[in-house]
Amino acid sequence: MSNQERYLSLVNEIQEHNRRYYLEDNPSVSDAEYDLLMRELRSLEEQHPEWIVPESPTQNVGADIDDAQQDALLARSPFAPIQHLHRMTSLDNAFDDSDLQSFEDRINRVLGTSGQSYDYTCELKIDGLSINVYYHNGQLTWAATRGNGVIGEDVTANLLTIPGIPRKLEGVPEHLEVRGEVFMTKEEFLRLNAEAEELGGTVFKNPRNAAAGSLRQKDASVTASRKLQVNFYALGSTEGLAVHTQGELLKWLQDHGFQTNPYSKHARGWSEAAAYHREMIQERPNFPVDADGTVVKVDRFDLQNELGFTSRAPRWAIAYKFPVEEARTVLQDIQINV
Ligand code: NAD
Repeated sequence: MSNQERYLSLVNEIQEHNRRYYLEDNPSVSDAEYDLLMRELRSLEEQHPEWIVPESPTQNVGADIDDAQQDALLARSPFAPIQHLHRMTSLDNAFDDSDLQSFEDRINRVLGTSGQSYDYTCELKIDGLSINVYYHNGQLTWAATRGNGVIGEDVTANLLTIPGIPRKLEGVPEHLEVRGEVFMTKEEFLRLNAEAEELGGTVFKNPRNAAAGSLRQKDASVTASRKLQVNFYALGSTEGLAVHTQGELLKWLQDHGFQTNPYSKHARGWSEAAAYHREMIQERPNFPVDADGTVVKVDRFDLQNELGFTSRAPRWAIAYKFPVEEARTVLQDIQINV
């Protein structure tokens, strides 16, 4: 097989994994294996940008499906399609400190500075599924999954069964999208799987798939019985709000009754962000939830705006993944406990 044939076969293989993961909540490879395939794909694309096909998973969010597949999916889906006001993106990945340093180098390049250390807000990357909650004149109106980043599924009734989501907000812009991560604790995942084994229901591979499967239920009372939780960390747009940094935003969310993750921290420069990441690796066994890394975000919104987005991810944030051995240990713990 030539390198270009290998490239095209990787595109197909990863698309298939995306379909199983995002549309069926039933992956056939581990996240670490998936990430290795994505790394190989990225490296081939870096060496041969002329090979890049539009359907490449590096150019898209979620499962890239064509219009016919989208129609078939929507016809089968019990959820109505909802168009997000602002696109929902993914995140680029860092796997070691040098990737984090390259992230800061790129920020310097794009902003026309050299060797400058930027301010970041670092957060835990909880492994769940992202949700977009829309408030019209301060009233919660709908909630949708990320979908392909442009159109998601209407899961409003299901989301409303989760605590920590204000129904009404005062003094906010007419249109407001608040974004976060729906997840399931490891304890609830084990309980659910033990129950499923006993009663012959669906056994989920991991808490992320269990959270996704539980949120996307036809019957909201089933979702209610699954004890899902949600953490918020972003807005679709900050226009009209007096928040200027990611740190201020997390405080704003808390002050307005949104559940946020307690582990966030300010860092100056990539090396402090790397130190936070190491701290989180130490803390990891104590987390009640699966976290697959940390997220490092440029703190100032004016700089975020200048940096902008690629086709699938912001240039101002990066997901620094936890090491694979750690991921395996947690999975083994869960299987042993089951
Ligand atoms: P991602 O999970 O790598 O990163 C983006 C997501 O992180 C966001 O959409 C959001 O949901 C989440 N997130 C959690 N905490 C956050 C925070 N504090 N701030 C911002 N975002 C936060 O991206 P993705 O595109 O959803 O998925 C890619 C990953 O999913 C892969 O790296 C792999 O681990 C996994 N995956 C696995 C398979 C498989 O077959 N095993 C298939 C597809 C994807």
